[in-house]
Amino acid sequence: METRSKKARLQVPMERPSTQDYRLVQEAKRRAVAEEKLEEKDAKLAEVEERLEEQRRQYVRLVGRLEERVRCPVCLEVPTTAPVYTCPQGHCICSACFPSISSTCPLCRADMARSTSLLAATVLENILHECRFAGCRERVAMEEVKEHRRACVHRLVPCPAARCPKQVTVINLLNHAVHYCQFNFARTLDVFEVLSPKMETTFYDTLGEETPTATYRWRGNHFFLNQRKLGRLRSFSMVMLATAEGCRGFRVTLHLAGAGTSVTHTDHPLAVDARDAGAAGLLVAEATMEKMVVQVGGLANYRVMLKFAEV
Ligand SMILES: [Zn+2]
Ligand SMILES: [Zn+2]
Ligand SMILES: [Zn+2]
Ligand SMILES: [Zn+2]
Repeated sequence: METRSKKARLQVPMERPSTQDYRLVQEAKRRAVAEEKLEEKDAKLAEVEERLEEQRRQYVRLVGRLEERVRCPVCLEVPTTAPVYTCPQGHCICSACFPSISSTCPLCRADMARSTSLLAATVLENILHECRFAGCRERVAMEEVKEHRRACVHRLVPCPAARCPKQVTVINLLNHAVHYCQFNFARTLDVFEVLSPKMETTFYDTLGEETPTATYRWRGNHFFLNQRKLGRLRSFSMVMLATAEGCRGFRVTLHLAGAGTSVTHTDHPLAVDARDAGAAGLLVAEATMEKMVVQVGGLANYRVMLKFAEV
């Protein structure tokens, strides 16, 4: 019994490791093959990536050369509209700078005719155009250039405070209006938060002096109320930090009420690109304005009711 049990004890460990070892060896072989395949794939992928990178570099080089060929020597811009005029030597001039068919080429002095370049037009239609505004890194297709320019946050717009002569980029506008603009209340009084769609602001009637621009924030959008004296008239206009298209989605009501009289005006706010923000909006005769003014604690003031709406 003792011998058999010894034998059994010897046999059991002999059998099990051998099966297990075999499996382990097979597994290791399989793993090695898989790893080898993976390495091969990695190497192929790196090769493909390198080829792609080289093609990208070639494409960028080609586009750069084509751009230089079609760049207008007069305004130094790559045209964003066809046709592009060309001299007999093939120099390109954009349609805005092309003076007349009797002119000479600004580069080679050859007589220009009314020849246009089909090749230049094809180049313009197929490259991505750089945005002309400083600080913008976007490149867009020719048919999207106009739309991009209209809404680019790097475009220059007049400060929404009607009396401020500064031009600011849209991306920096709020910073200027709230922290630096001496014609904006926000610099000293901060932005008026409009928590319900209606808001009433009391303005002190500073008689001869012009009232600074007031800044309002409603549902994350910024609005600027300008009040100006235009002769015997007082003009109230609301500018919104948005494009003309964006402004069409909003309506602002201005309401002034005083002794037995009131005036109301509802319209879309003016886009921040509007050149003469002081001239549009609600016009109130000074004689009517005098009726709006009330005396509170020795100070003449009037109230403007604002109502914001999304349409
Ligand atoms: Zn030009
Ligand atoms: Zn020429
Ligand atoms: Zn841009
Ligand atoms: Zn300003």
